[in-house]
This record gives sequence, C-alpha cells and structure tokens, in this order.
Amino acid sequence: MARQDSADRICSVSVDLDALGCYYRIHALPGAPPEPARFAVLRRCLPRFAELFARHGVRATFFVVGQDLEEDREGRALLADLARAGHELASHTHTHPYDFVRLGAGALADEIDRAHAAIAACAGTPPVGFRAPGYEISADALEVLRARGYRYDSSVFPSASYYGAKAIVMAAMRLTGRKSGSVLGNPRALLAPLRPYRPAARDPYRDGGGSDGLVELPIAVTRGARLPVIGTSLVMAPAWLRRRMVAAALRAPLFNLELHGIDLCDAEADAVPGDLVAHQPDLRRPLAHKLAALEETLAAARGAGAWFATLAEAAGRA
Ligand SMILES: [Zn+2]
Repeated sequence: MARQDSADRICSVSVDLDALGCYYRIHALPGAPPEPARFAVLRRCLPRFAELFARHGVRATFFVVGQDLEEDREGRALLADLARAGHELASHTHTHPYDFVRLGAGALADEIDRAHAAIAACAGTPPVGFRAPGYEISADALEVLRARGYRYDSSVFPSASYYGAKAIVMAAMRLTGRKSGSVLGNPRALLAPLRPYRPAARDPYRDGGGSDGLVELPIAVTRGARLPVIGTSLVMAPAWLRRRMVAAALRAPLFNLELHGIDLCDAEADAVPGDLVAHQPDLRRPLAHKLAALEETLAAARGAGAWFATLAEAAGRA
C-alpha cells in the first residue's frame, strides 16, 4: 500500500494477543484453560482479525507475548505469515506479568529481552514497539527500551472511567476473598497527554519535550470525559454511544485503537470454559455482533479519510 504522507489523520489498529490464561489470572480462576482453549486466541481469533483487516486494507500492530511463540508452533506460523504480509509484530513482554513495573531490574530486562529475541526470530526483524501488561509503564522500563533501540511505547491509557471501573471490580473481588492477578496501576496515567509525546526521563506520564528518542503513543480516549475507545468498550457499548466515541476519537490526529485477541472470540465454537465466560461479559456477546461493531468502526475511520498505519509508522511521524 502506498505511503500517504499527506494524510492528516492516522488510524493505528493494534491487537494485544493475551492468551485466555491471562484472563484466568485477572479473575483469579483456579488452574489454567484446558486444551484447546489454551491456544484459542492465536489459533482461532487471530485468523478472524487477519480477514477483517484484509477486508479494510488495515496493516495492524500485533502485540505478542514472547512465550506463546515458543509454546505454540501453529500460532507462531500464523504470526510469521502476518509479518510477511506487512503487519507489525511488537512486544507485549515474554510472560505477560501484571506486576511488570514492580519487577526487579534484572527480571524486567529479562521480560523485554526474551520477548525481543522470540519476536525477532518470528518476524525476521526486531520489534521496535512495546506495550506493558495492564497499561502500566515505568521510567525504568522506558530506559531499558531506549537502550534496546525501541522507537515507541504504547502502554499509557489515560481513561478515568476505565481506572474507576477497574478499582471497583478489584475492591469487590477483595471483599469476596478473591485476589485479582491484575494490578490497579498508577493514577498519574490519568493526567498523561492524549497525543503522542516524548516522556520525561523520570516520568513516563509527562511530556519531556524534545524531538527525537522514544515516543509514547497513548491509547485512544475521548477528550473531556476520557471515555475509553478500545475494543472492549466498542463491543459492549450501545450502537449510538459507540458511534459517538469513534467519531470523537477520529477528531484527533492519531486514533490509536487498541483491541484484544479475545474481542473476536466465539465462546462456544472456541470451547471457552464456562467459568471464564461467566466472569468476562464480552465473551457472552455473539461473535457476529462484535465483528459488526469493529467492522463499522474501521469503515468510519476510512470514511473520515484516516490512513491505516502501524504504530511504528505513527511513531515515525510523531
Ligand atoms: Zn495484555
């Protein structure tokens, strides 16, 4: 696809390929998903994204968990094909630890380096982009990424309503004696800029100015209310609200649309265990409904004249 340097609006679509095991940890479910659900996100959901993106001319960014490439040869082959087709493979750590920013320096660098090696081997080129698990990044992590030559991070999600909802769910879980594997994160993220910026040396949530070096690409929220414009909210919102949120996101120069692999899960056909479906409301939405919501969103972006670019390309213009 021709590079559209003149486009004044970019839509970058990314998919975090969290396996169903990550959701077991969030909801504190015992054990791990049984086969074949264990690999459902790469083997079942990923091909649906590939088809959807092909229909809309989207080259996307896939945030890959390094360990999954080592454990799932079939999923790895699918991702290698997508990289060859012009999609970007970026790093979502090696094991998706929700306490990533609380790890010691050695373990934190290890998460970045092992994923880096696995993704480089799969894609044929080393990753230049990073997204932390659970939307929390730290100055130390950014330092490691800078030292490794990464061009961007896209972990900052400045949504007060998402933060509030997460705090309530985690408090409710504590009251019922369950401890979520997820971590609430730093509320300073709520004050972060909404546009791409170069983070200050010791504060990932503050614009440090400058015109080169690693760029932070915040995930889309609406201006004002800062409603989250991500896959989960788009498939759960009523159609009128979804359209308004998408229209608002498309007014910014960059619509950084974050999706998750699970957004195109068909709970029944993909054999997702019932206890996970009971805890995860979007799994109870039919696949056709979720697909239609994302289809409409991509069509709206194209209708608004947006250029579909990978996050690496968006970082190059920031
Ligand atoms: Zn994730």
